[in-house]
Amino acid sequence: MTRRYFPIGVINLVTNGILLPKMDEEFWDICHAQQIDVCPTKYPIKVDYKNLEKKAEEKRVKYHYFGDATGCMWTHKVIDISGSRFENCSFMYCPNANLCPVLKHGKIFPCPTARHIDKFNKAYNTELHICEKDYIDIYKIDKLEDIMNFLTKPIPFCRYCNTPAIKETDWGISKGDIAEWT
Ligand code: SF4
Repeated sequence: MTRRYFPIGVINLVTNGILLPKMDEEFWDICHAQQIDVCPTKYPIKVDYKNLEKKAEEKRVKYHYFGDATGCMWTHKVIDISGSRFENCSFMYCPNANLCPVLKHGKIFPCPTARHIDKFNKAYNTELHICEKDYIDIYKIDKLEDIMNFLTKPIPFCRYCNTPAIKETDWGISKGDIAEWT
């Protein structure tokens, strides 16, 4: 469907790669037929990247790494559950804003943090609030510029992000402790 709407654009399937070894032949055939590049990020996890490279070559699918996080540090986002940060300041220091917008169910969020905060709320029994101004509904806009204007400004949810405090930490298995995020 994406190829239908973007007949000549580059389409990159960016993924952590965990499920790639389980994808069936049809997946690889579609990637080849629709000219979709498969772009995993290498993480220090048990994924046989060499085998994936071989598979992509065999299926004549373009394959390249989006990033290589093996042996790297992990960017530790800092959530302020009180929601008392200045939105403009959070946005100004944010490494995610405009870099990784998320479209889901017709709504565009400027970052994965706001879009997936429901998972955080569920895991830690918190109530970080999303409102209608935190996303733009693609079915309610008049022109492309509306999206571009939306993405260049802070959203109310930015008050939950302590972006100046973002730090690098070692990779490791999560203990499921909220302190890993705050
Ligand atoms: S909510 Fe705002 S500050 Fe937080 S990650 Fe998203 S864009 Fe950045």
